[in-house]
Amino acid sequence: MQGKWLEGRHALITGGGTGIGAAAAAHLHAAGAKVSLLGRRLEPLQQAAERLGGYAVSCDVTQPDQIAKAFDEARTMNGPIEMLIVNAGIAESAPFHKMTREGWDRIIATNLTAAFDCTQAALSDLMESENGRLVYVASVASLRGVPYAAHYAASKHGLLGLMRSLAAEYAKTNLTVNAVCPGYVDTPMTDQSIARVSEITGRSEQDSRGLITNMNASGRLVDPDGIATMILTLCLPQSRDINGAAVTIDGGTSA
Ligand code: NDP
Repeated sequence: MQGKWLEGRHALITGGGTGIGAAAAAHLHAAGAKVSLLGRRLEPLQQAAERLGGYAVSCDVTQPDQIAKAFDEARTMNGPIEMLIVNAGIAESAPFHKMTREGWDRIIATNLTAAFDCTQAALSDLMESENGRLVYVASVASLRGVPYAAHYAASKHGLLGLMRSLAAEYAKTNLTVNAVCPGYVDTPMTDQSIARVSEITGRSEQDSRGLITNMNASGRLVDPDGIATMILTLCLPQSRDINGAAVTIDGGTSA
């Protein structure tokens, strides 16, 4: 249906071995893209890369020297980076009065500062492309406050500020900059949130899953494939006038 509109073009996806990142890689690959998958753990990256014929690179995105090295390796394998999907992220929860400076720094470093570093590392490639595409995986937590996750919500609000600023700054170029804002998605991150709820409240796994699932207005978890489809759409040449958008994919939660 999408043809091979991304044939031969290189997409680099951070956090590409699992969840939303792996789904995005599969969709971009199906549209013809060469994919490079980055993350800290090599095993899930290699499994995803084997399925897709992609390239797996171990990289901790909180370490700028590792970003520089991994992006260079990815360029050597797949050519200039024409699409960058900034997806790697972590979530934690704590009441604000118990939140530590270490926890705050960890979340901001992974979810926000790494987005700055990854974007700078790919910028010259993105600018040279006829259809440079930068997509941030933000969150509904980019749009409103989240009790017990002030650091996470702050990091994701910051991501939208970065996205909108770059969209405005590069509006006259071939680069577009957009974000997707998912509600709770059926991924390992949500499994971890469910486990945390069980641990803190003593509820069963099933009850905790129900509690989290019902945070989405739809009463169901978002399918990672739905997010991947939107990421693919934002990457298509035909989407050149979609710039600065924060697309909610949350079953109506923020309606
Ligand atoms: P996953 O936990 O499956 O994906 C997160 C990915 O990020 C993993 O592949 C992980 O790989 C990678 N990652 C984490 N820290 C680093 C790091 N320092 N360096 C490199 N890679 C890192 O969950 P999701 O797919 O759900 O999460 C993807 C994105 O979606 C995140 O940014 C998250 O905030 C966002 N999101 C998720 C929602 C949800 O409900 N799940 C809702 C809204 C947004 P590794 O551990 O091997 O490094």
